[in-house]
Amino acid sequence: MNLPPAGRTTEDLLAEVARLKEHDLPVRGGQVTAYVYDTGRAEVNDAATRAYLEMLEVNCLDPTAFPSVVEMERQVVGAVADLLGGGHGIFTSGGTESIMLAVKAARDQAGRDRPNLVLPVTAHPAFHKAAHYLGVEVVALPVDLSTYKAHADDVAAAIGPDTVLVVASAPSYPQGVIDPIEEVAAVASAAGVPFHVDACVGGWLLPWLREAGATVPPFDLSVPGVTSISCDLHKFGYAPKGASVLLFADPAMRRRAYFASAAWPGYTIINATVQSSRSAGPLGGAWATLQALGRQGYAELGRATLEATTRLRAGLAAIPGLRVLGEPESSLVAFAGDGVDVFVLADEARARGWFLQPQLSYAGIPANLHITVTGVTLAGVEAMLKVIAESAEAARERGPVVLPEGLVELVAGLDLDTIDDASFAELSASVGVDLRPGAGQPEMAMVNAVLDALPPASREDVLVRFLSVIYSS
Ligand SMILES: *Cc1c(COP(=O)(O)O)cnc(C)c1O
Repeated sequence: MNLPPAGRTTEDLLAEVARLKEHDLPVRGGQVTAYVYDTGRAEVNDAATRAYLEMLEVNCLDPTAFPSVVEMERQVVGAVADLLGGGHGIFTSGGTESIMLAVKAARDQAGRDRPNLVLPVTAHPAFHKAAHYLGVEVVALPVDLSTYKAHADDVAAAIGPDTVLVVASAPSYPQGVIDPIEEVAAVASAAGVPFHVDACVGGWLLPWLREAGATVPPFDLSVPGVTSISCDLHKFGYAPKGASVLLFADPAMRRRAYFASAAWPGYTIINATVQSSRSAGPLGGAWATLQALGRQGYAELGRATLEATTRLRAGLAAIPGLRVLGEPESSLVAFAGDGVDVFVLADEARARGWFLQPQLSYAGIPANLHITVTGVTLAGVEAMLKVIAESAEAARERGPVVLPEGLVELVAGLDLDTIDDASFAELSASVGVDLRPGAGQPEMAMVNAVLDALPPASREDVLVRFLSVIYSS
């Protein structure tokens, strides 16, 4: 029974929250190179937290009841539009929701019986999720295996009569490179198909890197043929989670993202987003972060981010056995290993207090580790490089993960529908990956090596089962 018989004191509760968070990765300080975005400025964080709390109980459901929501959203969306070539926006809870709405708008505008979506394999899985939820097919195109960018010619060839949307990224997350946006825009517009630029991670990063001296090609709504763009403020906007902006060039297309229903006897439903009742906390947090940093704050963060990225790339190039993938034009850097098992390297780095994000091999792209360089990275970049060098050396000495013979074939051949969660947990414990409560952090190199050896469809089945097991009682 998890509900206490009588209420507990705030002090008691906060002590328990602290205890629950004990084994979490730290969200500040720059030693976690994914998931978290830290300005390193306590007063900015404080402003965001307080504004978030002020707005926490305001409900975005009804803008006529809470006009603060409309005014704040206009300001936040307006700031993003100013930076990204104009347009008509929606404030959403994150990149996935922005993408979901972009796909819905395109699908509804086109009105095809069997709609499809054309994207490079490096596009974010949020498009696969949107397509899955919305009944749209995905046409995935390979990328160039030296630049990791989409080819506009391939896009042109893949567009068919049922294509409702073309997608490219600025940058794509896996290697941090920018797809040829102007070329793809030209082929999409020649075919009369809308084109969404996924600038979830780059929208609020690339303009500041450009201002700091980086070469950044045009990628936003100012490019003819780009019809929508997504930009997450909870990434390089440094806002608390739950903040993204989706912009449409055409207000009529924005209306296709909206949803209204009068098909019941209750209150009037008119939603701009997937969620209906929704806290205005994230909106308040994003608004306050933008206001607390201002142009100058973001320009400084952009300069620090660019310098840290340059130093990181040079440092990685000097470590034997490691190589940066492609020529990242943003501050997302991925590196693969030659003679160094990157999954073992990641475990070694984690033991030294640093989290590097593993990425599995896919479509001809090797397994690698991903680092998102942010504003706070600069202060610790030499320390990070030292840890990566030591971890690479340790990984070389340990050698690659050796999977028990027949394990991959066994897992790939499992009919997971016939196995319950408890049996799956036992099976994984028997090969050294103990997922049972209290077992602690499994050796991730082993988990990643197994996943990496499986075909993508089996990876997905195993991942779903993994989630189900860790949430089973
Ligand atoms: C993070 C990201 C997304 C998805 O965003 P969420 O906020 O995690 O839902 C989509 N596209 C790119 C390129 C991203 O980096």
